[in-house]
Amino acid sequence: MSSVAFIGLGQMGAPMARNFLKQGHRLAVFDLNAEAVDALVQVGATASKNAAEAAQDAEFVITMLPNGDLVRETLLGENGVSQTLCKSALIIDMSTIHPLQTDHLIADLASRGFSMMDVPVGRTSDHAIAGTLLLLAGGTPQQVERARPLLMAMGSELIEAGGPGMGIRVKLINNYMSIALNALSAEAAVLCEALGLSFEVAMQVMSGTPAGKGHFTTSWPNKVLKGDLTPAFMIDLAHKDLGIALDVANQLHVPMPLGAASREVYNQARAAGRGRQDWSAILEQVRNSAGINHKN
Ligand code: NAD
Repeated sequence: MSSVAFIGLGQMGAPMARNFLKQGHRLAVFDLNAEAVDALVQVGATASKNAAEAAQDAEFVITMLPNGDLVRETLLGENGVSQTLCKSALIIDMSTIHPLQTDHLIADLASRGFSMMDVPVGRTSDHAIAGTLLLLAGGTPQQVERARPLLMAMGSELIEAGGPGMGIRVKLINNYMSIALNALSAEAAVLCEALGLSFEVAMQVMSGTPAGKGHFTTSWPNKVLKGDLTPAFMIDLAHKDLGIALDVANQLHVPMPLGAASREVYNQARAAGRGRQDWSAILEQVRNSAGINHKN
């Protein structure tokens, strides 16, 4: 059994820490909120007066904090983890923070002889309670293998993201997609309501199409990702259909800011001569706009 320091006992961190205790690990905890600490002490954790004290006998230190500045302060600040931590220990930041802050932390800790990996989590506090989080592991293969048994106390699936700093990067992409899609989905849902169409029918249709399943796994793999831009569905036709939806929405006074912005991307693609290419060529168009050259 391992000796673990857990810092940040909020909505996510508290149930994650409880799952360590259930597996019999020795657990030292710290949080600014004394009630959160007391609740963990009730079930067998040891309270610490600061992060340095929590870390002093730890083989693993886990941080689950609101932002990168707090993670940095907790690890490198006054009364922080690096004041007491043994150099052979492994630091695992599971918070969602800015990837460049993760990179700086990994480098700054390494220059002081410490090892850190990033393992942000997917899913929600319900999954944290159930121990079924999605673990996005950024680290060297050695770090991942060392942490794996411990991490699996908190999650049901671990994805190796491809090296240090890549866990937080894949988390960022996942959140970008799902958060932006939430707003786009709301536009579609309100247009649905304005048209008097039932949600159930719309969901039945979209559950089998790229609208519901996303493009990474449906329209891209056999087209743009293979370098094939011959049209299964043309950019010109997609632009026309998007225009009809926006026109209908305008007549019904439904604002569609994300749909309107998307139409401009199709407009750019047509202006660049891609009108008769497959709609997955939108990926190539956005690559070009970003100045990223690719073979297609
Ligand atoms: P939370 O606000 O519920 O918990 C944060 C905890 O950190 C609090 O208990 C707070 O007292 C403590 N804290 C703040 N500063 C501290 C310091 N300097 N030292 C010690 N403790 C300190 O947040 P949460 O929902 O548990 O989220 C934690 C992290 O997990 C965030 O980075 C969040 O983005 C990420 N996350 C949250 C969810 C979710 O569904 N809530 C899902 C995935 C990832």
